Amino acid sequence: MDGTTDILIIGGGMAGLSAATALAATGQRIIVLDKGRGPGGRMAARRVEIAGQQVSFDHGAQYFTARDPAFRAAVAAWEAAGVAARWPAAGAEAWVGTPGMNACVKHMAAGLDVRWNMRAERLLRDGALWRVEMGEEVFTAATVLVAVPAEQAAVLLAEAAPDFAARAAAVASAPCWAVMAGFAAPLPLADTFRSDTGPISWAARNSAKPGRSGAETWVIHASPARSRELVDAPKDEAARILLADFFSANGATPATPVHLDAHRWLYAQPEARKGEGPLFDPDLRIGIAGDWLHSPRVEGAWLSGRAVAQALLQERLASTS
Ligand SMILES: Cc1cc2nc3c(=O)[nH]c(=O)nc-3n(C[C@H](O)[C@H](O)[C@H](O)COP(=O)(O)OP(=O)(O)OC[C@H]3O[C@@H](n4cnc5c(N)ncnc54)[C@H](O)[C@@H]3O)c2cc1C
Repeated sequence: MDGTTDILIIGGGMAGLSAATALAATGQRIIVLDKGRGPGGRMAARRVEIAGQQVSFDHGAQYFTARDPAFRAAVAAWEAAGVAARWPAAGAEAWVGTPGMNACVKHMAAGLDVRWNMRAERLLRDGALWRVEMGEEVFTAATVLVAVPAEQAAVLLAEAAPDFAARAAAVASAPCWAVMAGFAAPLPLADTFRSDTGPISWAARNSAKPGRSGAETWVIHASPARSRELVDAPKDEAARILLADFFSANGATPATPVHLDAHRWLYAQPEARKGEGPLFDPDLRIGIAGDWLHSPRVEGAWLSGRAVAQALLQERLASTS
């Protein structure tokens, strides 16, 4: 399948879809390419069956806050659409996607031309156009935006836009092991657990988030330090070790899970940001977006996507006036 369009966006997470949403009103043709099987990016949700019941784990971002007025307005629209709800257990300002954390991204993608299972392998110039290669498949566009985690952006941009690639290469992201555990009975614990010092930085009763139902489920995140120690561990081993860490951190009697799995996020959250400097190069017609350009959060990703879209729109306005 080949495709030519006006704007290609590589990465359909919160940042890429925020940019696509902001640009959609211009009437330009926009195609978003994402290597994932479905919407979410790091706002992921995984469905599994436990004791004959379908349940969903939010194994990436746990909740988000909304402080910027424009982001607050977007969140209000998601709430009205039934894809976001407040989650007071995580704080007065905490929101989650409903029924899963990926619901907001899914909602945004529904109104856009997003192609899943599309991993951009190479990005290069083809005359006046950008060419994105994915094996046999090629997409071309006058303008391209790259909205992927910093480490992946550094690779993709190396030939295409060395200055942007250098900014991305200067950012290191912390890894995070996420454990997904299901239990036959509720654990006698509060719905959330946080620690800035121990091996477990966060844990939450996933099944207690708004809009969730079914078995007792928990998501447990290892701290960056513990995740680095276990970074090469097989996932079953990491899951067992971190579940033991969790019970020990809580001082709770260990319970045997009826479901236990783990996911390793190699680039969970950027530890430094490289927001300074332009997000869009009007000569090359290439832009960058992602949480690593703003702040390591859902809101930061949304704002960075909106910022690159605004830079592109301003340049368009300037070139036509
Ligand atoms: C474990 C964990 C916990 C977190 N907790 C919180 C939290 O509590 N609160 C909070 O606000 N934030 C949290 N975050 C951070 C938040 O999830 C991110 O800041 C935000 O989702 C980043 O959005 P993004 O669009 O920049 O990147 P992503 O969501 O990573 O989106 C990038 C997209 O690009 C795609 N992609 C990558 N490479 C390619 C390629 N070559 N071709 C095509 N597609 C590609 C990916 O599939 C992905 O969908 C957490 C993240 C993790 C992993």
